[in-house]
Amino acid sequence: MALLDVDKEAQTLLPQLVATRRDLHRYPELGFQETRTAGLIAGRLRELGLEVQTGVGQTGVVGLLEGANPGPTVLLRFDMDALPITEANETDYTSQHPGRMHACGHDGHVAMGLGIASLLARHQSEINGTLKFIFQPAEEGLGGAFAMIADGVLHNPRPDVALAMHLWNELPLGQIRVTAGPAMAASSRFTLAISGHGGHGAAPHKGRDPILAAAHIITALQSIVSRNIDPLESVVVTIGQITSGTTFNVIPETALLKGTVRSYNMELHRIIYRRILEMATNVAAAFGCEAVMETVAIVPAVVNSPEVAGVVAAIAGQVVGPHNVVDGQEMASEDMGHFLEEIPGCYFFIGSRNAPAGFHYPHHHPRFDFDEQAMVYGVATMARVAAYYVMGDFARNWQRIAEDAALPDSFSTTTPANIPPSLT
Ligand SMILES: [Zn+2]
Ligand SMILES: [Zn+2]
Repeated sequence: MALLDVDKEAQTLLPQLVATRRDLHRYPELGFQETRTAGLIAGRLRELGLEVQTGVGQTGVVGLLEGANPGPTVLLRFDMDALPITEANETDYTSQHPGRMHACGHDGHVAMGLGIASLLARHQSEINGTLKFIFQPAEEGLGGAFAMIADGVLHNPRPDVALAMHLWNELPLGQIRVTAGPAMAASSRFTLAISGHGGHGAAPHKGRDPILAAAHIITALQSIVSRNIDPLESVVVTIGQITSGTTFNVIPETALLKGTVRSYNMELHRIIYRRILEMATNVAAAFGCEAVMETVAIVPAVVNSPEVAGVVAAIAGQVVGPHNVVDGQEMASEDMGHFLEEIPGCYFFIGSRNAPAGFHYPHHHPRFDFDEQAMVYGVATMARVAAYYVMGDFARNWQRIAEDAALPDSFSTTTPANIPPSLT
């Protein structure tokens, strides 16, 4: 293949990314129900000549791009589920399914995954190793990563490096966030069931009020972060749900509290849960009630390998300019943490906010949408990182791949285009 016409190549890539993303956006599917999405992905990957496996972790899809020669295996992971939200945007690609919406940008992730596969498939003869594209179901708290791992996605072949990215409206278009080490928190949830003794609301002295106990427990739990945890550590204890009572003049029998704990370090999780249990049982006892706690681990922290993060940061700098590569951490969680517990890798964020164009709503908002140009930066970055690992003659091939993934002239490689000055 002759050296590609850079402009032409980039121009053909962006419309394809947009068309795919908008098609998926119109027909969002919830976790473990992504059958149309999976069918579309499997069809495209087969057209590209990849070896495709479906039904991995229920609705997950795996595509193997085997290089001409042996080498490392790079896992590229893209999530594909939507959320149970009714979209409030009115565009020609608005969700056609009330109550379901791609409000996190996973439609863009699938489009980028297919774009990267099409880009790298053209270079199959130059690849030394294997690219393992995985399209994961049910990232939104339903355990999709775990389901794929349980179905053996980390074997045959076992990846040497794992990569994933998220379009991110917390970052302006043209920035990429790469963090060496912990990037997103470990997450767990808990339930406290407080039982008292119900009765007439006008005769509280004859009962034991679980609502009063719950109120004091919630207040007491606020001291864990401020008084039991090293102030240099990042942790969150949030009660997100209180359920009790049926009407205004009855003291109920029970109160239920549900909450979440976040930290980067599982030892802190253990300290926090020990304190929640101590406080809940003792405060409940002080009000004549009893508290029982149940905890469920959700996902481990997303911890990036410093070596892989270094490669991603350097290559992201080639795409958007070194000054647009930023560092940062989130207390949100991501089930990419399961893959990164097993395989060294990097999970990074592609800025997709463009407020003047209306792309400034947060993820999971009914008006969420992202600047589609961000997909070009995502494709260029991840394709180049993958090429770094599987192209034997690194300098020559990386350059060529970089040119394939290159941005049109309007996307300068040092000053990203279309970023209003107010956002830079
Ligand atoms: Zn989400
Ligand atoms: Zn997401």
